[in-house]
Amino acid sequence: MSKFISYRCSLCGAEYLPGQVTYTCPNDGGNLDVELDYKNIQKKYQPEDITSRGEPSLWRYEPLLPVGIPKGEATPLHLAGWTPVFKLPRLADKLGLEHLWLKDESRNPSASFKDRASAILVARAQEIEAEVVVTASTGNAGAALACMSAAVGQKAIIFAPKSAPPAKVAQLLIFGAKVLLVDGTYDDAFDLTVKAADEFGWYCRNTGYNPFTAEGKKTAAFEIWEWWLEAHRDWHKKDSPLDNHPPLTIFVSVGDGNIISGIHKGFKDLLRLGWIPNLPRIVGVQAEGSAAIANAFNAGTETITPVSATTLADSISVDLPRDGVRAVRAAKETNGTYITVSDDEIIQAIAELGRMGVFAEPAGATAYAGLVRAAALGVVRSDDPVLVMNTGSGLKDVRAAMKAVVEAPIIEPTLEALKKIL
Ligand SMILES: *Cc1c(COP(=O)(O)O)cnc(C)c1O
Ligand SMILES: [Zn+2]
Repeated sequence: MSKFISYRCSLCGAEYLPGQVTYTCPNDGGNLDVELDYKNIQKKYQPEDITSRGEPSLWRYEPLLPVGIPKGEATPLHLAGWTPVFKLPRLADKLGLEHLWLKDESRNPSASFKDRASAILVARAQEIEAEVVVTASTGNAGAALACMSAAVGQKAIIFAPKSAPPAKVAQLLIFGAKVLLVDGTYDDAFDLTVKAADEFGWYCRNTGYNPFTAEGKKTAAFEIWEWWLEAHRDWHKKDSPLDNHPPLTIFVSVGDGNIISGIHKGFKDLLRLGWIPNLPRIVGVQAEGSAAIANAFNAGTETITPVSATTLADSISVDLPRDGVRAVRAAKETNGTYITVSDDEIIQAIAELGRMGVFAEPAGATAYAGLVRAAALGVVRSDDPVLVMNTGSGLKDVRAAMKAVVEAPIIEPTLEALKKIL
């Protein structure tokens, strides 16, 4: 039996049975939300049944997922998610915040948040016995799909723009995927992938196209929920009366808008189950040069007008975001907002996080850059508890990292030379 009831179109509200559609709404191309059997889940599970589970991976949320965990030994696919959250007290001081945490998604098997989506996708591909999975990617989605596919012996094909950072291309190749570098943008690769999947019957993972990516990404919300139950309790031991404080504010970088939509979906699932009283605030951060969703949010519309994207944060460089409508709603329906930051601010954020022991790729550091901007604008106040997501590892884009630092001097191997430079 299917683990979910139906798909619901985010634009027209039409409902489709599992098996009736695969990707987007046939009426209007709207993104589809996966509808779980909330009543049945409520009957069978209490929050403690989830929080007391042993699995240190996103599969601890299997009862709330539309797919089952693939059988077999633990592989990278079985070990995605369950990333750490830790405090950043020195940066909190600097920004005048009382409570600042970072959730480090670079600890995932292929070193980015995208592993969450790809783990669920490959599990789904195995369930429907898809022979080949395919995706367009600026790099990370592909690396994640290639990694999860390699883990369980699934065939994967990846289309990436030829400008993708070399480390990401190396990951794709090392994981044994068939890699095609497209002489064009991510958006060109996206369109080609959809056509190719159609033509050859491949199962397409494309972000903001396949409804299961958001179902994987929502597991970050579940982890934040579990972490917050603990953090909140500790905090109240020494602090103010219960619930007499502002809600948690989450900062996340936004390209296609699928991570922010997925996190929103996770919290909405918890709300529908009655497991949380209200939604945390979600703030989306975009690069100034790739801000189609922020533009729509600021104009008070759900109509996404494409841009000609230019930013060094390749993972969020998108002309036409494929999950823009739900991404606008994620901020609107949670009392959040959108912030845009320059490439210089992103580079500065890489340097500041680095000095805290966190190595973020540009799109990963973008969320923190957004927080710096938000604090200056008064969008967050000193007593707002804030969680920043680092969505990807700095090792994926060393060229960008080197822009955040001065090159190391080269010296002769003598004490004299050393003294001179000190
Ligand atoms: C994909 C990605 C994002 C943005 O996610 P979207 O779903 O495209 O909005 C942010 N950071 C990193 C590192 C990513 O790989
Ligand atoms: Zn529709």
